[in-house]
Amino acid sequence: MQKYDYIIVGAGSAGCVLANRLSTLPNISVCLLEAGGGNASPLLHVPAGWAATFNNKKFDWGYETEQESELDNRKIYWPRGKVLGGSSSINGMVYVRGVPLDFASWSQAGAKGWAWEDVLPYFKKAEKQQTHSDDMHGADGPLYVEDVRDKRPIHDIFLSAMNAAGIPSNPDFNGNDQAGCGYYQFTQHNGRRWSTASAYLSPARSRKNLDIITHAHAQRILFTGKNAHGVEILRGKEKQEIYGQHIILSAGAIASPQLLEVSGIGDGTRLNTLGINVVHDAPDVGEHLQDHILSKVVYATNDKDSINREVQGWRIITAAMQWFFQRQGPLTTGSAPVGGFWYTKPGLEAPDVQFHFASGATLYNDEGKIRALEQPAMTAIVNQSRPESRGSIHIQSDDINDAPIIRANYLSTPLDKETIVAGMRILLNVFDQSPLGPYLKGRLAPAADINLDSDEELLNYIRADASTVYHPTSTCSIGKVVDENLNVMGVNGLSVMDASVMPYVVSGNTNAATIMLAEKGSDHLLAARQQN
Ligand SMILES: Cc1cc2nc3c(=O)[nH]c(=O)nc-3n(C[C@H](O)[C@H](O)[C@H](O)COP(=O)(O)OP(=O)(O)OC[C@H]3O[C@@H](n4cnc5c(N)ncnc54)[C@H](O)[C@@H]3O)c2cc1C
Repeated sequence: MQKYDYIIVGAGSAGCVLANRLSTLPNISVCLLEAGGGNASPLLHVPAGWAATFNNKKFDWGYETEQESELDNRKIYWPRGKVLGGSSSINGMVYVRGVPLDFASWSQAGAKGWAWEDVLPYFKKAEKQQTHSDDMHGADGPLYVEDVRDKRPIHDIFLSAMNAAGIPSNPDFNGNDQAGCGYYQFTQHNGRRWSTASAYLSPARSRKNLDIITHAHAQRILFTGKNAHGVEILRGKEKQEIYGQHIILSAGAIASPQLLEVSGIGDGTRLNTLGINVVHDAPDVGEHLQDHILSKVVYATNDKDSINREVQGWRIITAAMQWFFQRQGPLTTGSAPVGGFWYTKPGLEAPDVQFHFASGATLYNDEGKIRALEQPAMTAIVNQSRPESRGSIHIQSDDINDAPIIRANYLSTPLDKETIVAGMRILLNVFDQSPLGPYLKGRLAPAADINLDSDEELLNYIRADASTVYHPTSTCSIGKVVDENLNVMGVNGLSVMDASVMPYVVSGNTNAATIMLAEKGSDHLLAARQQN
């Protein structure tokens, strides 16, 4: 019977990094289990294809929250990648690492060895940076970080309006200072999405010591006493057991706590109620969830200043040809080409709100699919960088195949409400600046009849319209569920390495930090192996 050195559950942003780094040494055997399938579909490589993966059961788990009491009791849709590359195969590709303050907070929360100076080398190790060549960036890693290809005059006009609103230009949000506005960079290479499956898995696929098993849905971790020794998977209708010395959960911030709980690691009372044998009583599993909530401003504009028309009807053919032959045009765009970071009040150590702008507008149709608005329009969103609100993710039965109960508890603190309202005020002020004036043909959201002078009315709009930036973290936090080496406390042979271990969500998009922590986590595992 084969026993792997490492079994990794989940081939997402973190799991692909681990599979590559751990299998570098040929004497180490690694098995990577992924519930979804392969990543051959062009939707996963043409950057704009991400919109078509939403609510597409082939690539998206398609979760939703419970009714959110501060958001008019709405359920919020949460896409998550279910494919090689995980959410890095369906995300918006914006590359932002966060700020030193984030990692200082991690350290204070018990994550010893995760301060900025500890993590920066791992960000750099991952990166293949196209433009910035200073000691803040890496040029030799597998993860291409490249400039926006589809630059448009309206992007520069929006940035001029941000300048006019008092937000200075910043050519590099991952440099010494995050504050300011400018173009984002994308995890792309030559106009193609660069997921962790492209960056880390493709180069390692042919290694004899790495087995990649797709359509392998981990059902639970197998224990002997407190020692993890394998994983039960479901492939098709068949259950199978796979054995390993060390099991690493990289199933993401939703599925990792879910897997721990169905396997007997979680709050003892909760598990007993569901008839689950308690392996280790760990009440923090699934708690402390954080996410970035967004609110948006949408304006109608002229045809030529919106990409909406270019990606609909017959025009999509022209856009597709442009992508295919030149790797240029609207299909090279992920979510938002430009944006920035700014302060809602004086005295803050780092910006507390982030902005994204796109020269298009979308809506969800009746099937929950994302579609370009027929009307030419542009959208800007704001999100709070460091929310205080905390939610939870817990199983509702002993069966991993039942979706978990997700409570984001968005806007559950006064600071979070104040910050999103203040962030919206900054954004609305940007739209009031003269550079944008000639391009605006009427505000679509917030609706023109909303009295924007009133904070209360603005908050009511936010409650009715706000959504997620897709950044759930912190459900298996360092210092609470895992130790600083990312080993699950209270049991042996089990780690969690994915976005769930972040003690706080970082001040920016979460893919880069997840990749960094898998880079660092793999070093911890290899160092521990050398000591034994
Ligand atoms: C639509 C969207 C847009 C986003 N945009 C951006 C962006 O522009 N920039 C950015 O930085 N971040 C973005 N993010 C967030 C970022 O992609 C995630 O934070 C990051 O990918 C999380 O990585 P992870 O390894 O924790 O989880 P994932 O990448 O989600 O990987 C988890 C993997 O585990 C698999 N899995 C789950 N359960 C099981 C099981 N039981 N058995 C086997 N396999 C299992 C899943 O199928 C998946 O492949 C976005 C996310 C989404 C969903």
